[in-house]
Amino acid sequence: MKFFRALGFGLSLCMLGGFAFAQQAQERIISTDVVVIGAGGAGYNAAITAAQAKAKVIILEKMPVVGGATIISGGSMNFPDPKLQEPAGIKDSPEIMYKQMLAAGDYRGDPELVKVFTDHAPELRAWYESLGIQWAGRVFEPFGGLYPRGHNTGAVNAGHDYIRVLNDAAKKLGVEVRTNTRAVALLRDGDHGSVYGVKAEDKEGKVTFLAKAVIVATGGFADNVELRMKHDPRLDASFHTTANPTGKGVDFATGDGILMGQNIRADVVGMDYIQMIPWAGGRVTDYVGADIYVNSDGKRFVNEGGRRDRIADGILAQKGHFCWVITDDQSVKGSQLEPGLKAGRVHKANTIEEMAKVMEVEPKVLKETIERYNKFAASKQDPDFGKTTFTQLINKPPYYFGIEHENVHFTEGGLRINVNTEVLDLDGKVIPGLFAAGEVTGGIHGTNRAGGNSLAAISVFGRIAGKNAAGLVSASADE
Ligand SMILES: Cc1cc2nc3c(=O)[nH]c(=O)nc-3n(C[C@H](O)[C@H](O)[C@H](O)COP(=O)(O)OP(=O)(O)OC[C@H]3O[C@@H](n4cnc5c(N)ncnc54)[C@H](O)[C@@H]3O)c2cc1C
Repeated sequence: MKFFRALGFGLSLCMLGGFAFAQQAQERIISTDVVVIGAGGAGYNAAITAAQAKAKVIILEKMPVVGGATIISGGSMNFPDPKLQEPAGIKDSPEIMYKQMLAAGDYRGDPELVKVFTDHAPELRAWYESLGIQWAGRVFEPFGGLYPRGHNTGAVNAGHDYIRVLNDAAKKLGVEVRTNTRAVALLRDGDHGSVYGVKAEDKEGKVTFLAKAVIVATGGFADNVELRMKHDPRLDASFHTTANPTGKGVDFATGDGILMGQNIRADVVGMDYIQMIPWAGGRVTDYVGADIYVNSDGKRFVNEGGRRDRIADGILAQKGHFCWVITDDQSVKGSQLEPGLKAGRVHKANTIEEMAKVMEVEPKVLKETIERYNKFAASKQDPDFGKTTFTQLINKPPYYFGIEHENVHFTEGGLRINVNTEVLDLDGKVIPGLFAAGEVTGGIHGTNRAGGNSLAAISVFGRIAGKNAAGLVSASADE
């Protein structure tokens, strides 16, 4: 059936006459089983899983390089892992994660999607190990993660590590990765039929991919100012993204998959929930417990271990919409440290007085703030702001500190999917042949994503999408 549709598509091109024919004839047509749009974490997880199930897979990537947000991410990935957590006295399970995640997103996440995610999250350790990942063997509370179930391959290169092993595994399985190839439209039979391919553009021009299943894994829309302002009018172009904090680089998160989906009647959910975080300034740790935030008066104003949306509101309420982030010599620093020091975003001081001078705050006030905080950290209780996770006191010089502003980080909303990652249309019906996974989807994290939950969710749902897309391929071969 699908073969005849593909044949029909090719023949209809051949039957066009004159100039139109000459133009269309230049368009290339490439057939495969599964097309994945986007070579980020979700796309690779989907492609590998589909290829393991014997499907022929092509990944389209609009950028010259693969990896998307995943490769530049901090790499914190949440999953319950009793072997590491229990010795540290941390009780965890899929049920606990499920309840916490729904609460963190104000119960706006779809309970069915959250259940599938949290049930499958514990598989991620073994899954990534099977591809070649070596975990760092430490469990921590990612920034905004709200619970200590974060894992990575080390504090510096984790995002890069995931993409490296995913890309190697995909290549070994024969997955074809076509960079510089931008998907521009999904091909669907009328308003209610199946999706049967993707129109794309590469360096040679237009190219059409015909497939039995298409998986959209194009990431979020943090960098699409028009789209984000449609849903949160505050987020104008003055806000940069965490993927491109200076505004001078490139951010690929332009919501292409959402817009292409909407063009063929796909539904969206949760588009108003857009996350901001302090990033790429003076913050050099990506976990909770080792730093404090102080305002331009040298005073704390927020629970540094709280929800990301509360922290964003807290920072935006301060004079100048910024804060200073302070840690000391004892913390585990991430990839921001060296470039931050070189660029002058991160400062180093041997005394609180020296630090106060750079910050232009009263040394006495800053000293009082830090001493008070250290008392809280020692007793693991924060009567001022309710912080509950402390990994250290801030008392071992040199101190590392710098200014942080809020950047647009993550878009919780996107294409509406069901537990099989099938994309649903405006009538709530499955769009046959179309799957989606990763930040392009909505309904998973509710109003507020917990830090470390995205890399886990893109992996879990990417794998489900790959499995179901391959299932569709083998079912159509049996027809
Ligand atoms: C700086 C930073 C740090 C982060 N740290 C963490 C963290 O520590 N833990 C965590 O859980 N989350 C983190 N996140 C969020 C997380 O990295 C992302 O949500 C996640 O990687 C998204 O994965 P994805 O596969 O959905 O999209 P991506 O990894 O962004 O991949 C999407 C790909 O699709 C491509 N694409 C887009 N449109 C098209 C098109 N039309 N045609 C072809 N290709 C297209 C893009 O170029 C991109 O390569 C971080 C994000 C950023 C920006």
